Amino acid sequence: MSLQPQRTIAELKELRQLTGDADGAQRVAFTDTWAEARRWLRDKLSRIPVDVYQDQAGNLWATLNGKSERELLIGGHIDSVPNGGWLDGCLNTLAGVEVLRKIAADGTPPVTVRLVDWCDEEGARFGRSLFGSSAVSGALVPDEVRNLTDRDGVRLEDAVKKHGIDLDRALDARKELKNAAAYLELHIEQGPVLLSKDLPMGAVLGTCGVERHTITFTGQAAHSGSTPMSHRRDALGGVSKLHLAIRDIANSHGGVCTVGKVTTKPGIVTAVVGEAEMTLDQRHLDAKTLAAMYDDARQASERIAKEEKIDVAWQKLWQIQPFPFHPELINLADGAIKEICGVSHRLPSGPLHDAAEVCRTGVPTVMLFVQSLHGISHNKIEDTREEHLEMSVRALDRLAEKTMQWIVDGGSRRA
Ligand SMILES: [Zn+2]
Repeated sequence: MSLQPQRTIAELKELRQLTGDADGAQRVAFTDTWAEARRWLRDKLSRIPVDVYQDQAGNLWATLNGKSERELLIGGHIDSVPNGGWLDGCLNTLAGVEVLRKIAADGTPPVTVRLVDWCDEEGARFGRSLFGSSAVSGALVPDEVRNLTDRDGVRLEDAVKKHGIDLDRALDARKELKNAAAYLELHIEQGPVLLSKDLPMGAVLGTCGVERHTITFTGQAAHSGSTPMSHRRDALGGVSKLHLAIRDIANSHGGVCTVGKVTTKPGIVTAVVGEAEMTLDQRHLDAKTLAAMYDDARQASERIAKEEKIDVAWQKLWQIQPFPFHPELINLADGAIKEICGVSHRLPSGPLHDAAEVCRTGVPTVMLFVQSLHGISHNKIEDTREEHLEMSVRALDRLAEKTMQWIVDGGSRRA
């Protein structure tokens, strides 16, 4: 049996019909619609000779036994954000289903092949992304998520229980990676890079590390009429200058830096700002460069505080290290893309993906990106040309073949 990428597109449309509405995809994890999508997926998998079960963290695994216990893993996530797009996450899962079908039809593969549909990649309901994959990696701390609540006040621990997950046993899912020799994930790019280069696909170098801080400038609130310009200690001056400075810092290091939120006190039209707070999100694929971007921003904030005669304080919100993917698998991914598309491109991923959690455990990992139209995702207008979707299924299949051979040749043990 040959690969039928057109079937993946038909199934994506079928899933959209089943679990979407006029506002987009509605497969938020731990909801009835998500469970319905999972039932639909199980039905598809029941027609392939694979063992299907849900692990203790709610991840759905389909295993095709091979000649070796060593495993090639292919991952995706069928959950979506509310009003989401028709491709984010489920393209990966359904392309994986098609590849699994083809490998199964070819007879017993040289290594065991497993498709995993990760549980709650998006974290849309409780604000905690990568639930299932971080349980498998061991990074999940049950006590940190137990009491997270959704908009209706439902606790995460209770919501997951309805879907067969005992939070206190979620980390038992770590055993799933015992024989993992490589992990592959296809995803839409969700950004404009491939579109702007007019390229269908790219090999992903890794997921960027993130430094996320709140920066507070403190000056002196004062009357807007009676305080001469020369006498002001305007806290907003700190935010304004630093916002412009961090653009230069991002550009000079080839990373991205974002000020997403600014608040001022007293925040009225007739007062000089006494306290101004800004958030800063910095991302880079290289840990040293990320650290340098952070240092540069701190130094700039201190210089600016002096100039403005105000004070500055930093508070860490969140941080994650970069996860560079496996160099040999990046080469294989590049080769697979070139075979199918004629040309490839290497790019980092700014967003996090389940692949980062697998990579964290040391399993050789790589991702394929396929072009996003409009460069937009997490929105119903998210789209990719059908010819590119077909290429992406073919490239994942080529990469799976190459990676199975790489595992047989002892690749992951060399690294
Ligand atoms: Zn996704």
